[in-house]
Amino acid sequence: MIATYIEVIDGKIKKSSLEALSLAKDIAAVKGIKCLALSTSKSASAEVVGSCGADELIVQDSGELDQSQLIDWLCKLYSAYQISYIVLANSSIGKAIGGQIAAKLQLGIISGVNGWAAASPMQFRRSVFSGKANAWYSFMEDKGVISVMPNSIPVKKTYSKVAEISESNVNLSGPVFNSVNKELVKGKTPLTEAEVVVSGGRGLKDPSNWGMIEELADLLNAATACSRPVADSGWRPHHEHVGQTGIAIRPNLYIAIGISGAIQHLAGVNNSRKIIVINKDPEAPFFKAADYGVVGDLFEVVPKLNEAISKFKEEHH
Ligand SMILES: Cc1cc2nc3c(=O)[nH]c(=O)nc-3n(C[C@H](O)[C@H](O)[C@H](O)COP(=O)(O)OP(=O)(O)OC[C@H]3O[C@@H](n4cnc5c(N)ncnc54)[C@H](O)[C@@H]3O)c2cc1C
Repeated sequence: MIATYIEVIDGKIKKSSLEALSLAKDIAAVKGIKCLALSTSKSASAEVVGSCGADELIVQDSGELDQSQLIDWLCKLYSAYQISYIVLANSSIGKAIGGQIAAKLQLGIISGVNGWAAASPMQFRRSVFSGKANAWYSFMEDKGVISVMPNSIPVKKTYSKVAEISESNVNLSGPVFNSVNKELVKGKTPLTEAEVVVSGGRGLKDPSNWGMIEELADLLNAATACSRPVADSGWRPHHEHVGQTGIAIRPNLYIAIGISGAIQHLAGVNNSRKIIVINKDPEAPFFKAADYGVVGDLFEVVPKLNEAISKFKEEHH
């Protein structure tokens, strides 16, 4: 059996969990094994996970689980259901629990997977050397933990079935630690899951100039991001900082405005499908990584771009 942990936020399954489930189903289909969806929320929809290929949805609704209890729960299900592979999204939760689950169950882990090949043994692709190359990994045995990089595996809602629901009543051990403060940033698509990201750098000069970046992001239904010095200066919140020391993202479109394109920034964004750069310096390193570029002053280019997109949207509404 292969199992995916399904994260639910505000009553909705996270897209990154459905991506992980889609990869799990592909593996299950090749290996001829059953595909399970595991959730700690009653809001996890059997229709949605079924449409992505899950045969069974196992739910334990005992309120919100502490991280150590979640690990305990998944490890207990692993043994009870004789699961061979646990597939997680490489989200903040997936990153936090993946290594611990692998250590507890004495399994190998391949994290940040962005593709796979149905060879024998199965091969999993990850990007390495700050996104400059891809490497292929396999498990020594036919079992392990896999975490899937958001936006790298398409969600396949191609199965016309509803997953069978079972309740799990695993006896969970008490929490190992308590979280002191948990704050969820609401309302916007998480940066790692966004299809379009509009990002600003030090070229914006001052945080008061971010209005045009937000306007562009709203027009494109995009998330906003920034370079590290921008977050370090307190112009933008730290959770928006992308790069080697920030978040690594893979949107379909990354628009970099007033960002130089230093190697440490590129490390987190160069897996984006298309990159557009707006910079007044034609020698800015970002142009080497860009698919499209505008050499110009962002204070002139971005307002004109916003105006043109607004007009286009009005005309094509
Ligand atoms: C160990 C380490 C880790 C790091 N990790 C990260 C990381 O994760 N993420 C990250 O981003 N950085 C990281 N950095 C910092 C990185 O090296 C760069 O310093 C940083 O990315 C530069 O940010 P920037 O491009 O916004 O600013 P700058 O380098 O100051 O570039 C500003 C750009 O804006 C352009 N510009 C200025 N005015 C205008 C205008 N009016 N119109 C158009 N363009 C304009 C300029 O031509 C320039 O290219 C790290 C550094 C180290 C040493």
